[in-house]
This record gives sequence, structure tokens and C-alpha cells, in this order.
Amino acid sequence: MTPPHKTIVFDLDGTLVDSLPDIIASFQYGFVSMGLPAPTDEEVRPLIGHPLEAMYAHFVPAHAASLCVIYREHYARNFVNRSRPYPGVVELLRTLRERGYKLAIATTKRTDMARRFVEALGMMPAVDYVQGTDGFPHKPAPDVIHRALGGLGRAEGLWMVGDTTHDIQAGRAAGLRTYAVTWGNHDAELLATATPDELQPDLGRLLEHLPPLPRS
Ligand SMILES: [Mg+2]
Repeated sequence: MTPPHKTIVFDLDGTLVDSLPDIIASFQYGFVSMGLPAPTDEEVRPLIGHPLEAMYAHFVPAHAASLCVIYREHYARNFVNRSRPYPGVVELLRTLRERGYKLAIATTKRTDMARRFVEALGMMPAVDYVQGTDGFPHKPAPDVIHRALGGLGRAEGLWMVGDTTHDIQAGRAAGLRTYAVTWGNHDAELLATATPDELQPDLGRLLEHLPPLPRS
């Protein structure tokens, strides 16, 4: 039997893609369209990475379900207005693949939306599998990581790379080493509380950990 594919799992929003401005804009649009006072960017930002309904429920529990419907409709039309891969990300993914690794995305976005988003950014060819969270426990539970690895067939997860403590907790729960980047949603101080194996301002150390695999 061939050995399992050595696989790196990445969070999407705030890790690979600077998508926060579009997410925040669509989140606030929901309030405006219902005539409710919209929270500020600073109020929304710490909640990103939680399921959408929980984010809205934080502000207006009675309207959370309706706001989710409005958000999804608006976000689907505006999700790449300002969203771009972080500098160096596309090159990093290419290098890891050239070295023989499989690459998976494990996100709290729903799978259909996540795949459309990755596609719209032109990043689909850069990864092997995109797994969203569709009605099962979200990060920090490890389920989305298990499913991402399962989607690749025989896959051995090596590292989970993310920008929040939820990513780090989920990665550890799935048995992966964990790599926190400091350019996303949680700052270095908060990320340190989750004790990732690496806490870095860039992805250089990831490449150091992952030398080219022997060709089989
Ligand atoms: Mg994230």
C-alpha cells in the first residue's frame, strides 16, 4: 500500500486570505438593511472565525437568523471586492506542493461558499482540497480538519496553520503540529495563550520544517 499523503492544513480567512474587510462590510450591511445600528469594525473583528449566527447573536439574538440570510446573499456578491491572498501565500503554497506535500483548507465558512471564494481568488489550482463546516461542530473542534484529511483519501496531517486560537486548538485536537501566524484576527499575545508549536510573523519557519519529500 502506498504511504499516506503528507498534508498541511490551512485556515482560510485571516490566514491565507486577507478577507476581513469584505466580511466586516457584509456583516454590517445586514444591520443597515434591517434598520438596526451597526457595530463598528473593532466590535466585529474579534468575533470573526465564530459561526455567523453566533456572531450576529452576540449583538441581536432575536434577529440573528434573518441577518444570516441577508449576509449570505450580500457576501456572495461582494466577497472578493477587497479580499486578496496575503503577500507570499501563493508562492508558499506552490513551493510546498513542489516539495511533495498535499495542501488542504479547513474553514468555518460553509463548503460551497469557501470553494466559490477560493475559486474567485484564482487559488483553486494552488490547493488539493477545500473543506468547510456544514452542520457539524466548528473549530476549536477538530472535525473540519478530520474531514479535510478524509477528503484527500489517505492523508496524514502534519501541520495546522491558522490565525486564531480556535485553529490552534482544533489542530492540536486533530493530532497535528500547530503554526500560528500573527497577521490575522488574533494578535500574538492572544495566540500565545493557545501555545502553538510555532508563533510567527511569517511562514518562513513552516518551509524550514518541511523539506522536500523523497520522490516515490
Ligand atoms: Mg481565520
